[in-house]
Amino acid sequence: MSVPGSEAAEALRRELRAWLEANLEPRFRAVSSALAASADTIEVLREWNRKVADAGWAAISWPAEYGGRDAGVLEQVAWAEEMDRARSPALVNPIGLSNIAPAILAYGTPAQKDRFLQRMRRGDDIWCQGFSEPDAGSDLASLRATALQDGDDFVVNGQKVWNTLGNLADWCELLVRTDPDAPPHKGISCLLVDMRLPGIEVRPIVTITGEAEFFEIFFADVRVPAEALLGPLHQGWRVAMTTLNNERGAVASLHLAVRRKIRDLIERARATPMGGASAADDPVLRRRLAHVYLEGELLRRLSDRALSGIVSQRAGPEGALTKLVWSQTEQHLAEVAAEVAGPEALVGEVARARLASRSYSIAGGTTQVNKNVVAQRVLGLPRSY
Ligand SMILES: Cc1cc2nc3c(=O)[nH]c(=O)nc-3n(C[C@H](O)[C@H](O)[C@H](O)COP(=O)(O)OP(=O)(O)OC[C@H]3O[C@@H](n4cnc5c(N)ncnc54)[C@H](O)[C@@H]3O)c2cc1C
Repeated sequence: MSVPGSEAAEALRRELRAWLEANLEPRFRAVSSALAASADTIEVLREWNRKVADAGWAAISWPAEYGGRDAGVLEQVAWAEEMDRARSPALVNPIGLSNIAPAILAYGTPAQKDRFLQRMRRGDDIWCQGFSEPDAGSDLASLRATALQDGDDFVVNGQKVWNTLGNLADWCELLVRTDPDAPPHKGISCLLVDMRLPGIEVRPIVTITGEAEFFEIFFADVRVPAEALLGPLHQGWRVAMTTLNNERGAVASLHLAVRRKIRDLIERARATPMGGASAADDPVLRRRLAHVYLEGELLRRLSDRALSGIVSQRAGPEGALTKLVWSQTEQHLAEVAAEVAGPEALVGEVARARLASRSYSIAGGTTQVNKNVVAQRVLGLPRSY
């Protein structure tokens, strides 16, 4: 018996594969993502994004009236597999498309949907997510940036941090405290903020890779029009959860890129001379390569399980487990890649990837927080406090 939706997914796969073969020119493949990209690279990514969007392939899960294809989960998986198989670069506006757009679709007014969604889909506007603060990360509800109503405006003051793409962003989905007297989760609102408003300052944070992929954003008496409110006043927590659930929902296809990197590493190990044979023949390295290969396969099974939960509408806490195993696998992979490269691992892409991989156990929910979720909701253990 075939899984409901699988025939539509296979038809979409064939159509997309043919389109990618005809349209994904080598110059697009040569760039990877907007993170820490140069101005030239961004222009190439924007061009690719527009091409993908205009052919109807940029946001297939969205309703057709906003340029999507009303695609179900299996079709989205087929889309991700084909984009990965063809080695398509990431779309230029990843946070907007996968995290923020679903919140606008769920809570936006018709005017907000008309204003933002098409431009988001084409990569005409790039979005960032202004949630974390210096003292509010895992415990997001303790955020302190304020937005007080003054006539037809909100006046925003405070600081956000770790804002991916903050330098390129035209718009920000911003969480602010609008009722300082309410309990933490209840006095928060969500604003869609034009990053060009007076009083906004964006400063880079240089990471251990030497690159600035995320930023601090400072707000000093920024007047944001009331129409920027997304969802009901003081109920921004619900909007934030919709955004974060979509960020975590993307874990079902995380295994694709990591398994491709593992396959590439095994090939590289076979081609790297070591002790009269190849790195892949070295008994210690061989064992480590096998270990990381198996981690990748485990990740795939976990992703499939998370996916079948979504398809059968029994989605549970599998996302936390998948995120946990994904970040560990990426970090182990980076370590083994460095061993295969030998002294060359001190410079270039292997060194960069190894340093960058340290952030994977923090971004999108830390390892400790995910372990808490697994302990309580998968293993049924009591809370520790
Ligand atoms: C690459 C990257 C990109 C990011 N992009 C964005 C972005 O675009 N927008 C945005 O708003 N944020 C972004 N973040 C921020 C990210 O969401 C936060 O870093 C994350 O939520 C952790 O918060 P924190 O850094 O304040 O650490 P904290 O929450 O202060 O945690 C510090 C340490 O304490 C541990 N800890 C915290 N609470 C518990 C607990 N209950 N039990 C056990 N241990 C605990 C944590 O695991 C961690 O080890 C990004 C982060 C990274 C690394």
